[in-house]
Amino acid sequence: MKLSEPKTLPQLFPFLEVSAQRSLLGNPSSVHLAGRNAKFYLDQAREAVAGLLGVADPEEILFTSSATESINTALKGFYFRARAQGKAVVMISSAVEHEATLETLKFLQSLGGVEVNLLPVSEQGELSLDTLSEVLKKVPDGSACLVSLMAANNETGVVFPWKEAAIIAQEAGAVFHLDGSQAPGKLPDFSLAGARVDLASFSAHKIGGPTGIGCLVVRKGVILESFLHGGAQERKRRAGTIHVMGALSFAAAALEMPKRNLQKIRELRDQMEFQIFQRILGVHFNGQKAAARLVNTSNFVFDDLRGEGLLMALDLDGFALSSGSACSSGSIQPSHVLLAMGHDAMASQSALRVSIGPSTTEEEILCFVDCLESHVRRIRERTSKLAKS
Ligand code: PLP
Repeated sequence: MKLSEPKTLPQLFPFLEVSAQRSLLGNPSSVHLAGRNAKFYLDQAREAVAGLLGVADPEEILFTSSATESINTALKGFYFRARAQGKAVVMISSAVEHEATLETLKFLQSLGGVEVNLLPVSEQGELSLDTLSEVLKKVPDGSACLVSLMAANNETGVVFPWKEAAIIAQEAGAVFHLDGSQAPGKLPDFSLAGARVDLASFSAHKIGGPTGIGCLVVRKGVILESFLHGGAQERKRRAGTIHVMGALSFAAAALEMPKRNLQKIRELRDQMEFQIFQRILGVHFNGQKAAARLVNTSNFVFDDLRGEGLLMALDLDGFALSSGSACSSGSIQPSHVLLAMGHDAMASQSALRVSIGPSTTEEEILCFVDCLESHVRRIRERTSKLAKS
């Protein structure tokens, strides 16, 4: 099927600006005029999001509340359907997936009937396709197998060979789920067109849209047990009245995507890393030597410094960075991604993550490096004074 012409942002904007517009307050499942209007705009949103992702049939887009919900729907939906058919389940994923995947896998393990295999990564955070093939060879005949991998890592930006992994998985008879959350707008030429991906999860807030809306791509012929029960919305695949404004906002962000200058973002990131390397001693970049990285992400650690202090100092300067993985109590835990790449607990807790946005300027990058350099110097001087006293 031919993709329809992308609608331009101005065409959708009036609907976003007048959120109180009666037509959008309708329930898209209702048959009255307000419902039909809402359905009309929802269909437009579905087309725009499908266009962004390279999905030819917009009916394959299922709106959800987040990538987390999409991942839960894919993994649990696959598991419950296979179990209902009396099959043993094998799930293959990687050690560096987002918690949305890892915690869902843990939950399914607690229910039983599933063998979970987490593939290791190299020191650079890369995935070996040979290891995937080896693990797939060991899947017992008659079991239902799902391979779930991320397109790119949210902490290091390291890109997985997801298209090749999807082919290997499908040829071994497995269903392939892609956590594509980090890819659109950060991975040049990202598209599901022609890829052998059965299921794929995305989130609007990762592409400059609002929080609270995401989608799951469900290819024709892939049947999942419903995760939410209730109404027959989303062709009986997700019960609950659809978030029309969220879907439209997701679409508006999707339509902005082609305007992003990924080359410029990559140049700024590389310039930042070069400056840091030149000006501050004892810095190590994580995943920098991987075959492919997202254009906007940088992850680094200083030999003798904890990330937490730097994070707080930079926050006061107006820079929002991340370090390790923030647990529910707000304290910083070692990053499971860096641990899987072979770093020790201290380094895994201390690494800083920087993401460059589409509006980041060269001046901001230079200002950031100045601030970082002066905080590192100050903290190191204080630490050495304390050690001497
Ligand atoms: N997967 C990856 C790779 C992510 O980076 C994120 C969010 O950070 C998620 C899943 C979860 O996305 P959401 O915040 O939409 O639940």
